Amino acid sequence: MKIAVCVKHVPDATVHKRIDPATKRLERSGEAALNPTDLNAVEEALRVKEAQGGEVVLVSLGPEKAADSLRKALAMGADRAVLVTDEAAAGSDLLGTSRALAAALERESADLVLFGQASSDGDGAVLWAAVADRLRRPLVSQVAALTVDAGSVTGKRQTEHGYDVISAPLPAVIAVSDAINEPRYPSLKGIMGAKTKPQESLALADLGVAPDDAGDAAARTTVLDLGPPPSRGDQIKIEDDGNAAQKILDLVLERRLL
Ligand SMILES: Cc1cc2nc3c(=O)[nH]c(=O)nc-3n(C[C@H](O)[C@H](O)[C@H](O)COP(=O)(O)OP(=O)(O)OC[C@H]3O[C@@H](n4cnc5c(N)ncnc54)[C@H](O)[C@@H]3O)c2cc1C
Repeated sequence: MKIAVCVKHVPDATVHKRIDPATKRLERSGEAALNPTDLNAVEEALRVKEAQGGEVVLVSLGPEKAADSLRKALAMGADRAVLVTDEAAAGSDLLGTSRALAAALERESADLVLFGQASSDGDGAVLWAAVADRLRRPLVSQVAALTVDAGSVTGKRQTEHGYDVISAPLPAVIAVSDAINEPRYPSLKGIMGAKTKPQESLALADLGVAPDDAGDAAARTTVLDLGPPPSRGDQIKIEDDGNAAQKILDLVLERRLL
């Protein structure tokens, strides 16, 4: 069973997110990490491989620094990584991103393609649908439990009212929720071994994607304006000069919140 896992290199959760006012894009030069629910997708792929044998290949579109995140997933146990990295891909919206990733996935022709449910920066929870459509493969999203048989896959899909149980023939695309498993921590052996695992870096041209089919040139969406959320008039800022806890308690009592 060949399993491809799409993983995204995102700004670290602890970093204050900043929008570049000139490009209206998220500033991505700071600390970054593997997107949290993509760890669940990697974990699930490893479990399927452990049960059935095969290969787990990571696929990502991002800057060269995304290789750091890929190494973490390799350290968890993935076999190899493919990073699509190209200046011409900067500014890709959903269409350009899905085009480049679908081209990389076509090249892999995996039996199963796994995604995390949503990225922590874009939070669209939609890329997998666009990729599945381009690959013309069935899709099950928001999957909280997965069973893979010889020719089919069954996902327990979380909904507002309970669960749907959906089967699809392989090859298929699955987006997993963070309820599906507890991702493993990489072992020291895994971390050392990750350095020697194959990591391929591809340009758009290597995938037959023309430079004007991705990036700014192909974007069908334009960010018109961005701004911080409106501030709340009743906000009070408490500086901690040693007795912040008392000040908070006084405020809570004053407002009769306790
Ligand atoms: C006008 C415009 C310009 C943009 N410019 C940039 C830019 O310069 N750089 C940039 O990084 N983003 C840019 N974006 C955002 C980019 O288009 C989205 O990140 C992308 O479409 C994925 O959407 P999402 O982040 O909402 O992912 P979701 O749909 O929430 O992601 C779901 C899952 O898809 C997978 N996934 C998502 N992104 C990737 C990826 N890149 N590689 C592998 N797997 C992935 C992961 O498994 C993830 O959990 C831009 C968006 C717009 C509208």
